[in-house]
Amino acid sequence: TTEPATAIFDSLESQVRSYCRSWPAVMTHSQGSTLTSEDGREFLDFFAGAGALNYGHNNPALLDPLLDYLREGRIVHSLDMHTSAKRDFLQAFSDLILEPRDLDYKVMFPGPTGTNSVEAALKLARKATGRQHVLSFTNAFHGMTLGSLAVTGNSMKRRGAGIPLTNSSKIPYDDYFNGAVDDFMWLERVLQDSGSGVDKPAAIIVESVQGEGGLNAARLEWLKALSDLCREHDIILILDDVQAGCGRTGTFFSFEEAGFTPDIVCLSKSISGFGLPMALTLIRPDLDQFEPGEHNGTFRGHNLAFVTARVALETYWADESFQNEVQAKADELRAGLTTIAERYEGATVRGRGLLTGIAFPDASAAGKIATAAYECGLLVETSGPEDEVLKTMPPLTISSEELARGIAVLEEATAAVLG
Ligand code: PMP
Repeated sequence: TTEPATAIFDSLESQVRSYCRSWPAVMTHSQGSTLTSEDGREFLDFFAGAGALNYGHNNPALLDPLLDYLREGRIVHSLDMHTSAKRDFLQAFSDLILEPRDLDYKVMFPGPTGTNSVEAALKLARKATGRQHVLSFTNAFHGMTLGSLAVTGNSMKRRGAGIPLTNSSKIPYDDYFNGAVDDFMWLERVLQDSGSGVDKPAAIIVESVQGEGGLNAARLEWLKALSDLCREHDIILILDDVQAGCGRTGTFFSFEEAGFTPDIVCLSKSISGFGLPMALTLIRPDLDQFEPGEHNGTFRGHNLAFVTARVALETYWADESFQNEVQAKADELRAGLTTIAERYEGATVRGRGLLTGIAFPDASAAGKIATAAYECGLLVETSGPEDEVLKTMPPLTISSEELARGIAVLEEATAAVLG
């Protein structure tokens, strides 16, 4: 018998913290929506780098300009210097994303990852208001650094870091009470009652769709009501679009169709378009109260990411055709998952756009289905507090044929696990 290709990772288990527990294959190549392992197996990707690969793997439209840029001896790393790559990205972001949506934001480069964007937003909200408390939601996920973790809802991830589990900063997300409680009346009352023990918050941070928290998708009118409440009470609304943004829900920003403008928006994951680390914090101009150097970092705003980010915007966001395609595929995905869910009592379809999945009443089912799907060549993850949600997040560029193939695998895998 030959040793499995992953043997080295297994033997390093005692030394290596980072190894993949659910997909025991050594991946070597990738193209579009497919990864290939060293032993020649092909895997259809319903994971998309946890949302960092909205335009697929090694997308040639982005790869070629990146390779040209490198071969021409252009600037790779430059800290805060002006570079042509940075200028061209900012121009494209303004022309193709902000202006057409009538959005007026200052663009900040907070660091390389999503959690850096959240940290910058939290710090700024506290500085701008002079208040410290931040409210966030049940099952929220905002990142792993201390500030982001403090507003994250997952107690397993917070416990070890010693972040209190009983502070007052988590409030119920949309539909938490299954419609039994008037959405914001209780919060309004608490905010007005200075003796209630809830300090007036500097900010409320929210995801339109809770990607890690179980694909809970807030209703657009709930988000709008939250925004109105923040306006009324002079509380800064931070919209964390790290996972749901960059087209994932069918529009570039997940809040576009809800009729409000967040004060601060966090973007990362797919903003570089190519899987390169990049993050943005979009700030209402009058809130930009950082002194120069007050929030810095060595790898903020990387030129290679600027190159691919600009080309991604030009390729996919110059008109509405890509957005329409994504929405059509989202409908196909939802229909496919609904057909599967309808066969199993208590299973429900969750999410929005190409960030949609199935929650199973037996919390262990989703993980077993993901394992069975892997055996059939499909990479798919679970999410939610008990990993009870089978979470599909294919590249937005996936073909309808690949999408149908992936759904068929899920159907088969679900039947293999649940009968
Ligand atoms: N916010 C949200 C909504 C996320 O989904 C994530 C990552 N899953 C983060 C923040 C943190 O991003 P990163 O892992 O790049 O730090």
